[in-house]
Amino acid sequence: MPTVEDNYENETICIKFCGVCPSYPGVKGELLFCARGKSSSPKQKSGCNCGMCDIWNKYDLCPAN
Ligand code: SF4
Repeated sequence: MPTVEDNYENETICIKFCGVCPSYPGVKGELLFCARGKSSSPKQKSGCNCGMCDIWNKYDLCPAN
């Protein structure tokens, strides 16, 4: 599985998708969950925009990852 780089460029891509996601917990500073892991305060999952994200496609991520 490719490792998603934890950098500013990827964070600015993530915010376009995670930032408007109904499952986004909105904890300040938390983004890029595919690189950094789960939120410290996860919300009940009520949707996911990751499949539309450029990083998802670039790194060929899948739900099992
Ligand atoms: S795949 Fe999901 S968590 Fe990762 S950058 Fe894209 S929207 Fe954010």
